[in-house]
Amino acid sequence: MNTKNDKSVENVLQQNKAELEAMQEKLIRAERLAAIGELASGVGHELRNPLNVIRNCAYLLKIAIDEKDEAGTAEALKVLDKQIDVANKIVTDLLDFTRIKPPAQTRVDLQKLIDESLTWVAIPEQVKLSIDLKGITQPLRTDPEQMTRVFTNLISNAIQAMNGKGGDLTITTATGGGYASIVFSDTGCGITDDTLKKIFEPLFTTKPKGIGLGLAIAKRLVEENGGQIEVASEADKGATFTVKLPLEQRS
Ligand code: ADP
Repeated sequence: MNTKNDKSVENVLQQNKAELEAMQEKLIRAERLAAIGELASGVGHELRNPLNVIRNCAYLLKIAIDEKDEAGTAEALKVLDKQIDVANKIVTDLLDFTRIKPPAQTRVDLQKLIDESLTWVAIPEQVKLSIDLKGITQPLRTDPEQMTRVFTNLISNAIQAMNGKGGDLTITTATGGGYASIVFSDTGCGITDDTLKKIFEPLFTTKPKGIGLGLAIAKRLVEENGGQIEVASEADKGATFTVKLPLEQRS
């Protein structure tokens, strides 16, 4: 009798376990699908902007060519070029996130890295940019392409945080504890404590048209290069992102 009871309890338990596992699998699938949906809608939104501008530009370009308006043609081509860069950056962000290459580290000139990063972001007139790189005197070894990507993401976030109102963006440097720190401080909208906990998570964004990959990529790239990324912020006052990269050992 007892053995029979034991058997049926075992059967029920096994059935429950199987049901739980099936439910868990369903949940994981649903979560994955939701993440893909979120990503697709974010990327779709972001890509539509430059594509619309490109379409309008192509129309204006045709008129300018028909009218042999050289200045108009040159202007339309410039805008086209810029918008293609914007669309390209969105695609690169996605690819960067899915397949980050092992870093190809070389000895880099920080000034050059910052200059190169600044070519990827338009700094509005009302933003005051100050750069002081004297805090690092030792050479840095890092992947220049990957670090340019990190800096570009931080700079463009800082500009976006100013919501078109303008403000200060300061890039400073320091050395200590075997690390070189590159510090990006802005006087933008700042980050609330709740948001602060999530900003490095992939797909986390507070922007209506954001994708939420910029900081996740930045963190991965910095860590791949042996460094760390830190953030400090006060809502409404601004934010400070610090990229810490290991200093080259002097022999
Ligand atoms: P996205 O820019 O697509 O939103 P990110 O991963 O670059 O994705 O940023 C995630 C979120 O972190 C942003 O939506 C924003 O809320 C916050 N954030 C990042 N940088 C700043 C900054 N400098 N000032 C205020 N908030 C920021």
